[in-house]
Amino acid sequence: MSYVIPFDENPSAAVEGEEARYPIRRIFCVGRNYADHAREMGHDPDREPPFFFLKPAWSIVAASADVPYPSRTSDLHHEIELVVAIGEGGSDIAAGDALSHIYGYAVGVDLTRRDLQGEAKKMGRPWDTGKGFDASAPVGPVVPAAKIGHPDAGRIWLDVNGKTTQDGDINQLIWNVPEVIADLSTLFRLEPGDLIFTGTPAGVGPLQRGDKVTGGVDGIGEITFAVV
Ligand code: MN
Repeated sequence: MSYVIPFDENPSAAVEGEEARYPIRRIFCVGRNYADHAREMGHDPDREPPFFFLKPAWSIVAASADVPYPSRTSDLHHEIELVVAIGEGGSDIAAGDALSHIYGYAVGVDLTRRDLQGEAKKMGRPWDTGKGFDASAPVGPVVPAAKIGHPDAGRIWLDVNGKTTQDGDINQLIWNVPEVIADLSTLFRLEPGDLIFTGTPAGVGPLQRGDKVTGGVDGIGEITFAVV
């Protein structure tokens, strides 16, 4: 393909054990999907329907590159998340069929300008500047489900400079992965290359320049990056 202007290649993520990469089409994110995180953000976690927001595909930071501290915030927060990588598209996918649409899983961090997100919430404005900024989506290598199956339990954790700040289990998801895919696919036709960040457990908090972040989901992998 040639273009009339200089243009980056499509963003992609590494795949564990493969030379070929996982192409990224869209990045969907689920809001408030762990009860303890909903509570820490001041909400009642009774099963309100899942809600979604998006980050641009180009906001991805592939495996373990440095993350620049973003502009116009003084409250950059980390949110460690289980990420689902869609392999086969579909609309109105039944929860019972959802797992067959998954290529694999990864560990990601939903970086958030909490101050801008808070202002947007207060004003009833969109979340894009709080959530969808450049380099807001560090994602580790995608691990094929063909290798690890479909984990529905396992520790999810994040350390800042070696100190654990988030510590939960993916079995605490309010809406589990099949339910998220079922609901999201009624709003959008899911396509190969779509990533879904499934939400974060409690313990979100600020990052500073110079911080070293390491997080993981047991059975899937880890991600490490520095804020620079
Ligand atoms: Mn999140």
